[in-house]
Amino acid sequence: MYINTRENDVEQAVFSYETIIDGIAPTGGLFVPAKLPKLNYQDWINKTYQEIAVEIFDAILAFDNKEDVKEIVNDSYNTNFASEEITPIKKVGNVYVMELFHGPTGAFKDIALQALPHLMVKSKSLGNKKEDTAILVATSGDTGKAALEGFKNVDGIKVICLYPHEGVSKMQDLQMRTTDGHNTHVIAVKGNFDDCQAMVKEIFGDENFKSQISNYTLSSANSINWGRLMPQIVYYFYSYIQLVKQNQIRMNDKINICIPTGNFGNILAGYYAKEMGIPIEKLICASNKNNILTDFFKTGHYDKNRDFHKTNTPSMDILVSSNLERYLFEKSNKDDKLILSLMRDLSKNGKFEIGTELLAKINKEVFAGYATEMEILDTIKDVYSTCNYVLDPHTAVGYKVYQDYIRQTGDDTPTLLGATATPFKFSHTVMKAITGENMDEEKAIKQLEVLMNDYHAGVKDLEKKPILHNTICEINEIKLEILKILS
Ligand SMILES: *Cc1c(COP(=O)(O)O)cnc(C)c1O
Repeated sequence: MYINTRENDVEQAVFSYETIIDGIAPTGGLFVPAKLPKLNYQDWINKTYQEIAVEIFDAILAFDNKEDVKEIVNDSYNTNFASEEITPIKKVGNVYVMELFHGPTGAFKDIALQALPHLMVKSKSLGNKKEDTAILVATSGDTGKAALEGFKNVDGIKVICLYPHEGVSKMQDLQMRTTDGHNTHVIAVKGNFDDCQAMVKEIFGDENFKSQISNYTLSSANSINWGRLMPQIVYYFYSYIQLVKQNQIRMNDKINICIPTGNFGNILAGYYAKEMGIPIEKLICASNKNNILTDFFKTGHYDKNRDFHKTNTPSMDILVSSNLERYLFEKSNKDDKLILSLMRDLSKNGKFEIGTELLAKINKEVFAGYATEMEILDTIKDVYSTCNYVLDPHTAVGYKVYQDYIRQTGDDTPTLLGATATPFKFSHTVMKAITGENMDEEKAIKQLEVLMNDYHAGVKDLEKKPILHNTICEINEIKLEILKILS
């Protein structure tokens, strides 16, 4: 059963399918499992990615029928991924890179968003929900395309994607605006990601607005939705087992994970994998110049009253990291009163502060650091010249912070680095790092294809596709645009 971070009331616990249908709890809190199962991953050494996914989905979702779960997993992970392993790992320098980007849109978000539509359809049938669903997505670039691709042409569902106008990469912009499908909608907002995310959260709490679109149930495809987070737990199990299989570690050895972080979803899935049994020692939280999390883990003060930077890692340009709420809830022994008061401070004053005891407890588990734009370019260049491996800029943030971690701690525990996007998606930045040259996206992608002798289907020949979405609006016009779509 599932409880919520701002009102931890077991009497009101809900089923997993209800959390997936609703996306967010009525009080604005986030759904979390009341209790997580411990899993015997030691027995899974010969299982495929899909077989492991079935075990994990089944244990976490607790649907009545395991056959339903098998069907969802088989529909979610098949030839839509370019790697048979789904998330292969590669040793690069001193770290094991989990390549999470082989899905249709080239970002790790595909792993959850190829599954979420199937989870949503099943959840609606379990919950006996007949009305159509409108999925609202706020995106810093990658979630949008992954959600559009996942949900396109799914009956009974419309997907509406809000992204910062001129705040995403050219590729991300083209990817979203060329999406076909009868139920996909894209709105460029004159604001940043936090404005888009805040509006989605506001709409969920706006009864008056919701009454105007009463033929629809609203839901979310952002990582505030448990159904978006849950599938990400699988690759931590799978990757750990691959390390054992490849004789890099022995069963039950400790590992660390290092994750390029924005909304704290991916790294939180790693935390849940740890709670479910994987012996993860440190969560290394890597940020870009929007280093609000680095400051928070150092001082216990979370303060979003600061400049917002548009960087070369747009998917991490975030100041309000939603899933931190879930992590703080877990680490405070599920203290809903504390979380409610912290989140009130955040929405009222743009900041909150945790006590030294809680901070000390968290610091036993989390190491946080960041990389500047220059450091990102240098890292891509260094890793290419020394390891002949091309990192995407976001993954480079993680690589750089991991080197800082080693220098500061001397800890040589084997570490998984989450590679969150294909370099082809950020060709301009990658080629600038490697050649020093500023080239347009089209030329950059061609050169990168030659250099890597590879390509990614999700970004190939994008500029030849017709642009199907052109809406641009101000922040205060978002609701009107959504009404137009849904009425
Ligand atoms: C979304 C995204 C991130 C941040 O992930 P969170 O789960 O929001 O922390 C990092 N890198 C890339 C490429 C992304 O698309």
